[in-house]
Amino acid sequence: MSKTAEILCVGTEILLGNITNTNATFLSQELSLLGFNVFHHTVVGDNPERLAQAVDTALSRCDLLITTGGLGPTYDDLTKQTVARALGLEMELHEDILADLRARWESRGKVMTKNNEQQAWFPKGCTIIPNDWGTAPSCAIEKDGHTVIMLPGPPREMKNIWNKYVAPMLAAKQDEVLVSRYCRVVNIGESALEDRLYDLLKNSTNPTVAPYAGGGETMLRVTAKAKTREEAYAMTIPVVQAIADECGDDLYAVDQDCMEQVVVELLHELGMKVCTCESMTGGLIAGRITNIPGASDVFECGLVTYSNRIKHKLAGVAVKTLDEHTAVSLETAAEMAQGALALSGASVAVSITGVAGPDDTPEGEVGTVFVGLAGPLGVRSAKVDMLRSRDRAYNRNLATVKALDALRLYLLEIKRDR
Ligand code: ATP
Repeated sequence: MSKTAEILCVGTEILLGNITNTNATFLSQELSLLGFNVFHHTVVGDNPERLAQAVDTALSRCDLLITTGGLGPTYDDLTKQTVARALGLEMELHEDILADLRARWESRGKVMTKNNEQQAWFPKGCTIIPNDWGTAPSCAIEKDGHTVIMLPGPPREMKNIWNKYVAPMLAAKQDEVLVSRYCRVVNIGESALEDRLYDLLKNSTNPTVAPYAGGGETMLRVTAKAKTREEAYAMTIPVVQAIADECGDDLYAVDQDCMEQVVVELLHELGMKVCTCESMTGGLIAGRITNIPGASDVFECGLVTYSNRIKHKLAGVAVKTLDEHTAVSLETAAEMAQGALALSGASVAVSITGVAGPDDTPEGEVGTVFVGLAGPLGVRSAKVDMLRSRDRAYNRNLATVKALDALRLYLLEIKRDR
């Protein structure tokens, strides 16, 4: 039977909304992959009574408790003492860790303050887990059928300890593993996709198929549980294939992170370089492409031609086109792509122009967007199918995804023609 895990994040700044609880998000995903059922997340401030209460509650209902935060040197870092008390354990000083802490301070030419000694005190009988990227070591305790693992708050330190020490330790104890694969779909909304994959979704038990929508795309997570990773992976293959058969080219990636990664890989594969020419997205397309490692081999340049004057001067859009069809039109999008291609000497160009909102403009209603492409298949432009929204940020993000998708499909066509 799967074991239950609970995540307890300590820190008043999380409760105040000053920081987002990314530790819980990360740990939940990781615990699921290891086959744990995560039934509760709790956040508690730096308050000893409420922390003690939260620890007691968690221990009454889970097998594995993971805490983050409160391992530091200050008076409000209370996690270890509180967990020790809840488990009826004394605290003990680890002289080797104290010496190590002192040496770290000395190596920086400083004398360690007294409060830092707290980081060398641990619940009796625990296993110390090193913190290679910070000063506060973690620890794990096994008691009365419970395991408690205390991790530091800073996400960078927490993730390193998790990946290097904790995940392998937990994986070795689990008798089943979960493998999740992510199928990313564009141009089919969540409800339409659910309708088209109704039988697959309804009957999915192992593997399960769960849809999530957001950021202009729908993601289907296929998760299989088995004795080994290989066995679980094999179980996902026919399900992923069924999704691919149903979605065709709208399934843009399996096991890849994002649209721009797929675009960069296609450009690499085809030996092509892209140039972007953006109006409403103001450089977001270029930003996303250049986020991908290796983009320098496939990204020639990005033009942000926001005003009509620059659309004409830099991208070569004819004044007549702008006067007769406006800046938000099929014609302008096509000329922007064509002009950017000529200016840059890239092998393919993508352009975008539209009305981001929140208000309508003389050029069009909010959400009117055109994408242009120029390259070996000629010059093309099309009106983008946007969702009705007056949210500027949402429209700009969706338009970026749509432009990247148009580029992806153009590149796929080139690939198939070769
Ligand atoms: P330190 O030695 O840095 O004090 P700590 O283990 O005591 O480590 P906290 O003081 O609780 O950790 O948190 C340090 C910082 O880590 C916080 O200010 C915050 O920026 C980040 N942090 C803490 N908890 C979380 C969380 N759940 N999600 C994201 N970031 C977090």
